Amino acid sequence: MRNKSLVNEAREIQIAVELVNLGARLQLLQEETSLSRERLLKLYKEVKGESPSKGMLPYSTDWFMSWLPNIHSSLFMDIHQFLVKHAGVSGVEALIKSYRLYLEQTGPTEGEPVLSITRAWFMLRFFDAKMLQLTPCTECGGHFVVHTDELCGDYSCGICRPPSRAGKTRKAAQSEAAAA
Ligand SMILES: [Zn+2]
Repeated sequence: MRNKSLVNEAREIQIAVELVNLGARLQLLQEETSLSRERLLKLYKEVKGESPSKGMLPYSTDWFMSWLPNIHSSLFMDIHQFLVKHAGVSGVEALIKSYRLYLEQTGPTEGEPVLSITRAWFMLRFFDAKMLQLTPCTECGGHFVVHTDELCGDYSCGICRPPSRAGKTRKAAQSEAAAA
């Protein structure tokens, strides 16, 4: 039994290191591992060379509805659902694998990715809580993130019907993502 718990702990440390490298906030590490806050803080500083940010966590579902964040969030959810369904992964493993694939798909970007792993993690919780869900676009057939209570029969996504000020939204979203 003692051996087993050591192996578990090693696995949790590995998961925590991966999450930190992907940009996860401390709260995510606390929720997804059973390591103590002290150990996680130490681990975070060792991996990142700095203390974790103490800023507010992104609690709102509204962020996922603006133009560029919605496209990125929908891409992440598509990847996540595919992996859960076809690759037999779940929980934090599914989060890490999906997020790595999301980063590959969106390619190298200047600065921070639009969707941070912490936001992706919150989004999965919002899906579990049935506050958000995916709905098909009637024009392209892709699936996109919407508020559960805002369902309508003829949804058109942000790629098929980009808002005229999409360029401005992109910049705003990137600076917001960088600030997060
Ligand atoms: Zn569409």
